Amino acid sequence: MRDSEASPPTSSKFSTGVVLRRTRSFYYVDLGQAEPRLCRIRGNLFQDNASEARVAVGDVVVVEPDAAEDAGWIRELQPRHSRLARRSREGLPEQTLVANAEQLLIVAALKRPEFRHGVVDRLIVAGLDGGLTPVLVLNKADLGETQETTTIQKLYSDLGYNVLLTSATVPSGLNELRACLWQRTSVLAGHSGVGKSSLVKALYPDWEIRVGTVNQKRGKGRHTTTMAQMFRLPKGGYLVDTPGIRELEPLGVTRKTLDQNFVEFATLRTQCRFASCSHRHEPDCAVQQGVAEGAISAVRYRSYVAFWESLEF
Ligand code: GDP
Ligand code: ZN
Repeated sequence: MRDSEASPPTSSKFSTGVVLRRTRSFYYVDLGQAEPRLCRIRGNLFQDNASEARVAVGDVVVVEPDAAEDAGWIRELQPRHSRLARRSREGLPEQTLVANAEQLLIVAALKRPEFRHGVVDRLIVAGLDGGLTPVLVLNKADLGETQETTTIQKLYSDLGYNVLLTSATVPSGLNELRACLWQRTSVLAGHSGVGKSSLVKALYPDWEIRVGTVNQKRGKGRHTTTMAQMFRLPKGGYLVDTPGIRELEPLGVTRKTLDQNFVEFATLRTQCRFASCSHRHEPDCAVQQGVAEGAISAVRYRSYVAFWESLEF
């Protein structure tokens, strides 16, 4: 809609809210009321043509309510403190999927589907790159073998990450998970089948759960479904469901900076003979030495190498 076509606002009372969901032209903004308010953006808000693409789920916006239409206008976008993004595609620019989330909940199953370090480590990097704290949720604890579970749990908690062991079916570990979500904005990520929707249902049985519906609608070509959606939790906090795990791209990460996102490389990577060491085959590499001596886990190192090789530059 061009500015000249827009009706003048009928109220001058501004409110600040959070974008829960967006379609091509509408933004559902949580202003603390029962229902989100349907808002639009003035065409000239950001002084460029891409303004529609710039406001993302999770963004904090200043809204001018339009009492006549029970709608509103987004007047201002407040600065972001974190960002999960996806690569440009179909001629669209790189896009922010979720703004301002505090933690990335990486849900993985211990079995069925089997635990994959590569997937988890990639998501950890995506979270760190975007300014989110990664949290590992090991679900299907009821199926896991104790030894393997302990090894994985110890590996990631030794790296400093919060690791929660859960089962949506038994159920167990749900109080800890609920406490972790409470009053925070969390993004749920992980391969399909690991139990994300089951966990949400088990956590909030009385909550009208909509997380799973994103997947059901996807096949029908509804553009809302390619976006992330955010839900207000019953006792405070927000939960964000993202459309696909592959969409979360650590866009700020290059072959040169990847090693900074592997926390256990921190002290060693500065001790390599070459400043530009990729830690793969160079001589006198302190990271490879660390792997040989057991200071760095071999599975984490393999994730690093696979990730490095998947990067273009
Ligand atoms: P999502 O794709 O990540 O949302 O996964 P779902 O919640 O749809 O779960 C996939 C399958 O795993 C379903 O058959 C669930 O019943 C099952 N499942 C989910 N959580 C658990 C769990 O903690 N233990 C076991 N044994 N099965 C689970
Ligand atoms: Zn090195």
